[in-house]
Amino acid sequence: MVERQLARRDIRDRRVLAVMGEVPRHRFVPAAEVRDAYSDAPLPIGYGQTISQPYIVALMTQLLALTGEEKVLEVGTGSGYQAAVLSRLCRSVVSVERLRPLAERARKILGELGMDNVTVHEGDGSKGWPQEAPFDAIVVTAAPPRLPPPLLDQLAEGGRLVIPVGAPGWQLLELHRKEGGETSSRQVIPVSFVPLVGRHGIPPEGH
Ligand code: SAM
Repeated sequence: MVERQLARRDIRDRRVLAVMGEVPRHRFVPAAEVRDAYSDAPLPIGYGQTISQPYIVALMTQLLALTGEEKVLEVGTGSGYQAAVLSRLCRSVVSVERLRPLAERARKILGELGMDNVTVHEGDGSKGWPQEAPFDAIVVTAAPPRLPPPLLDQLAEGGRLVIPVGAPGWQLLELHRKEGGETSSRQVIPVSFVPLVGRHGIPPEGH
């Protein structure tokens, strides 16, 4: 997976490549998908949600440019796989998932793997997680129509935010908040993601 799917594309960060080779992706997929756990594709994880393709996980992680000291916010825990990858590359991970069964499952697997610098919360991550802000890096793994303002507010100076934005035909956006507060951003590649459902995303059904 690392050589064929990541290094042959544009994943160059050696720490990211090493961690992608170490984290057991098969532990994060449902039993019915284990055979395909390392294939070059997203997979269903139940409740209409997906675990992202390995390349997209690696790319989003690489764009965060982590050095090992950061406190990272992940919005959209899903299977817990992205959180597991992050956990090996930064100081701590705060991950937020709106669907309780997924949050519980991810918490259990991360605990079994001893990844105890990850905290999984249930809630609407489109509001970020103000209790623990600011964050040195923020990664969002579900797509809102627009960048949720609370996420920008909770990004520390010098921090990076990676998020798929704008539907349909989302673009992966990389945003850098420089020292002094000024921001710059660029569109990286077109991507496909499940919607970010919540106050600063797509309204939940029945609202
Ligand atoms: N990072 C995940 C992984 O490694 O498996 C993939 C996440 S999946 C593509 C997107 C997740 O975002 C889903 O589990 C979905 O329930 C969650 N989600 C959607 N809207 C959310 C919100 N407002 N707050 C938190 N989680 C949300």
